[in-house]
Amino acid sequence: MPSLVLSSAGETELLKVLCERLPDAVYLIDPDTSRIVFCNGPAYLELGMERDEVLGHSVLSLQMDVVGPEQWREIANVIRQGSSYVFVGRHRHKAGHEVSVEVHTRTLMFDGREYFLSVARNIGGRLAQGNDLLSRDVQLRYALNEATDGLWDWDIQTDHVYFSPQLKRMLGYGPHEMASPKLSDWSDNIHPDDKRRVLQTVSDHLSGLRERYDAEYRLRNRNGHYVWVRDRGRICARDDQGRALRMAGMVHNTTEQKQIEIELQRLASHDSLTGLLNRRESEVIVPAQLRLCQRLGLGLGLAMIDVDHFKQINDVHGHLAGDYVLRGVAELLGSLIRNADYLFRWGGEEFLLLCVDVTEEEMLTLAGKLRQHLASASWPGVPKLETVDVSIGVACFPSFTETSELMLAADRALYRAKTLGRGRVELAMRMPAAS
Ligand code: GH3
Ligand code: MG
Ligand code: MG
Repeated sequence: MPSLVLSSAGETELLKVLCERLPDAVYLIDPDTSRIVFCNGPAYLELGMERDEVLGHSVLSLQMDVVGPEQWREIANVIRQGSSYVFVGRHRHKAGHEVSVEVHTRTLMFDGREYFLSVARNIGGRLAQGNDLLSRDVQLRYALNEATDGLWDWDIQTDHVYFSPQLKRMLGYGPHEMASPKLSDWSDNIHPDDKRRVLQTVSDHLSGLRERYDAEYRLRNRNGHYVWVRDRGRICARDDQGRALRMAGMVHNTTEQKQIEIELQRLASHDSLTGLLNRRESEVIVPAQLRLCQRLGLGLGLAMIDVDHFKQINDVHGHLAGDYVLRGVAELLGSLIRNADYLFRWGGEEFLLLCVDVTEEEMLTLAGKLRQHLASASWPGVPKLETVDVSIGVACFPSFTETSELMLAADRALYRAKTLGRGRVELAMRMPAAS
């Protein structure tokens, strides 16, 4: 048998060559910063990168399933506690696609310092080959699992739940973590605002009120962030009396779609220049708040605020300066009102303020204060602009009782403020009924 006799320098050289020739990616990580301090060839080549694009970077930049330093700290603690930590996840290839990896990580002391040694194996091929060897049932389960973001299977009698590795990954856990989870391991992580509704949907399905369980809700990830999920399931086994024994389902991570949906909703209800609620929203909110005040016997005030001679600002300083002033007016007004008040961008240079639980006197005082603050504000973004003033028309409930009446009255009061010389507040008074 040939034996290899090496000098110390030769040994180092051999170790280097061995490390480079390993089929798996090897990373040495600083546990505190999550930075990669050493890696071999496969570690960067498989991700389509240069060594420099990996070395010195946080391991979080490679991992698609570990989000943020908090989750890293959690994982680092688990790694420190065990002999080897396994994580089945996805690395991000430079070209944008995912690389399925199984990562084994353990602590390593070297030169008096602690490191994490991670060995990542590309399991994309293995996943495909593995399918050939599996029974049809298991293959089906496997394919479903890959097609969604996770499967679960709840044994109702024992209360144990099976979470597929994908589901655990979505929640930020490795496949060997969360040993024998119970239903509460899931339900405790549902967002408090969604929990009642979701559990009700489960119980409606169990009691036969619903054909299937189907819910969209927020689920807490290990790092404390919430992911939006669409979760669907059904009873899949019953006893002789028809009582549910098992329920199984799939979870789909809908965070991205949900974010787009939320953003679209925001765009539809907010003005893009100032970020304020838009006029369309006021058409829903004003009548709703008026009904509420009528029911509770509270006062309500509307203030229509119009920038004076705004066209001149555009004409003299340019349209961009005009935009800057509109943003500034919105910001200043927003900073002076209460949380419960609503400020809308009603039109070009017109704003509508809605306050609940106010008297006419309080509304007038507030409107005067807003005007004063605006008139004394400085506009460093428009060098030669000295002051921006506004005219304000105020109308209140119970002097006016319908939304349309209130709006019309506020508008007329504003018109009066304009004709009386601008830079002032006018209150709409109800005309005494003719006798
Ligand atoms: P008054 O004191 O009578 O209110 O006069 P005004 O010049 O403020 O009123 P006017 O209605 O004549 O002009 C309003 C101008 O606001 C006209 C319009 O071009 C401008 N405007 C509307 N929307 C925007 C915007 O989003 N950005 C900018 N820069 N200007 C806008
Ligand atoms: Mg106007
Ligand atoms: Mg104006």
